Amino acid sequence: MKFVSTRGGGKASGAQAIVEGLAANGGLYVPETFPAVSSEELSAMLEMSYPERAAAVIGKYLTEYDRAELLRACEAAYAKFEGDPAPLVRLDDGVYMLELWHGPTCAFKDMALTLLPYLLRKGADILGIKEQILILVATSGDTGKAALEGFKDADGIKVMVFYPNDGVSKMQKLQMCTQEGDNVCVAAVRGNFDDCQTAVKEIFASAECAAELKKLNTVLSSANSINFGRLAPQIAYYFSAYLDLVSGGQIEMGQEIDFTVPTGNFGNILAGYYAKRMGLPVRRLHCASNLNNVLTDFLNTGVYDIHREFYKTTSPSMDILISSNLERLLFEVSGRNAALTAQRMAELKTNLKYKITAAELEEIKKTFDGGFASEETSVEAMYGVFEDVGYTMDPHTGCAMKVALDWFEKNKKDKTPMVIVSTANPYKFPQDVLYAVTGNDVKDSFKGIKRLHAATAMAVPKRLLALRDKPVRFSKVCDPKKLFAEVLEFIKG
Ligand SMILES: *Cc1c(COP(=O)(O)O)cnc(C)c1O
Repeated sequence: MKFVSTRGGGKASGAQAIVEGLAANGGLYVPETFPAVSSEELSAMLEMSYPERAAAVIGKYLTEYDRAELLRACEAAYAKFEGDPAPLVRLDDGVYMLELWHGPTCAFKDMALTLLPYLLRKGADILGIKEQILILVATSGDTGKAALEGFKDADGIKVMVFYPNDGVSKMQKLQMCTQEGDNVCVAAVRGNFDDCQTAVKEIFASAECAAELKKLNTVLSSANSINFGRLAPQIAYYFSAYLDLVSGGQIEMGQEIDFTVPTGNFGNILAGYYAKRMGLPVRRLHCASNLNNVLTDFLNTGVYDIHREFYKTTSPSMDILISSNLERLLFEVSGRNAALTAQRMAELKTNLKYKITAAELEEIKKTFDGGFASEETSVEAMYGVFEDVGYTMDPHTGCAMKVALDWFEKNKKDKTPMVIVSTANPYKFPQDVLYAVTGNDVKDSFKGIKRLHAATAMAVPKRLLALRDKPVRFSKVCDPKKLFAEVLEFIKG
């Protein structure tokens, strides 16, 4: 399987797509075609374990990776999870939660970032790269910690994480700033996530930066969700959820289902689209946003317009205006028109907006629709479900719940099973979840954990409790214009 950039140019191998992260012309790597999964193959996957399913799906794209080795890597990655890596919980008739937060950092980013170190190191070996690899990450909260945890003490790899100073939750900040490992560095950036992501993208796009790093025997790579190595493992859980519904007798093989996905950078939901393109019987994908509802508007109007107020919400991993992975969907619905995709991305940069054609919008609407939750309506959804069935969810999942409930309300006759993707452990946001389910406010996160436990009786992840006593290793705050200087300082040691 070869890969092409959404902005044109030559082909790349899977290893190259993963090691480079972003194509040299600023485009995102996409597979040349979508590999099909036949109904026989799907049936054969019913009996498989999660790592076997993941290796089967990922192996369809990364054809140069040795299949047996890939399977061993998947087994090792998902052994870091507590129990089933992607369990389904039935809430009601035809309504299920897909819990993707049983990994080391309690958020869905672990689904890909526990495996990415292998995909990257192996990719570098395949390409014969001798330099050390520097993983540069811009995070809205959860990616940073998952990358640090995934890559800590990995041979020949260094990790540097930048997060928006006031744009992450206290728990997320603590998780990152107490990170152990000799090859890691964490710094806060003045500004919001988009400022942070833009500054990091500029380093990736700069030939001068690459040349400077080369002198230090270092090549850059990305663990952000634009890296195909993040996307591929995420496709697997859409398959796995479907197969679990079949083997649990909840649906018939071949029956179509819907997913609702809490969305920020459009990575998670795009993986669902890839699963559909591979032949998984997915009917609709409901894109759930928070108050930063640029995607909701785009899916309704075909205009992507970031000239708007930016809100800091209780679902910080969705506080994003520039959803990078949307570029991959635009590329598909434009008939894989790289020049047009590049033009739109340039327009976004200069005019802060672009518009797609009516035909393209219609094509997108065949699969996608969008909705959003305000701070109040997500809390109402979280409270309502907790009251009704005793299920506790985090604020990101709360946004998805609100959007799914709106869909049910407007489509009462529609009996298509719905899977709501649950992206973080509620204890990662203890104060906000406590407020949603009990109406009580507490000042301290750890007090929030205690009270939330008393209210819900849900098990508290030991890794989160342990943060209270860990020393803070990183406390620097830097200017978004000076990130590369920070990078050089870290590399020089
Ligand atoms: C990253 C994240 C999201 C958004 O996922 P995207 O792939 O960026 O759309 C939603 N919820 C949580 C908890 C996350 O960590």
